[in-house]
Amino acid sequence: MIRVGAHLNNSVSAGQDPRQEAEAWGMNCFQIMCGSSMKPYPSTHYKDSAYATAWQNYMRDNDVWVVNHMPYIANIGSTETSKWEMAVNSLIHHRRCSHALGLSAVLIHAGCTASGASTPVSA
Ligand SMILES: [Zn+2]
Repeated sequence: MIRVGAHLNNSVSAGQDPRQEAEAWGMNCFQIMCGSSMKPYPSTHYKDSAYATAWQNYMRDNDVWVVNHMPYIANIGSTETSKWEMAVNSLIHHRRCSHALGLSAVLIHAGCTASGASTPVSA
């Protein structure tokens, strides 16, 4: 089966529910951010068992894959120790969030390998 989806807004504080948008578009796969795109750590919503159970039930009942999109600020390719450590810690926290919600995977942009690099290095 081919999975087709996109980034969808998951701003809990704004009351947005990406599941409704996914259904309207007929998506069977989509990405959400479990926090701000510019903050390294996810929001704490995933620690709410009712919130987590709702996501798990949704994916199981609708055969939808949901991927946790890491924040853009996490640069796992950085050669600067502090930035690299922040990215690794961010990944650890987002992996915990993904596990709690039952999400299919964690997606991370690799970023640049050097500070100030103007051209991203592809893997
Ligand atoms: Zn992306």
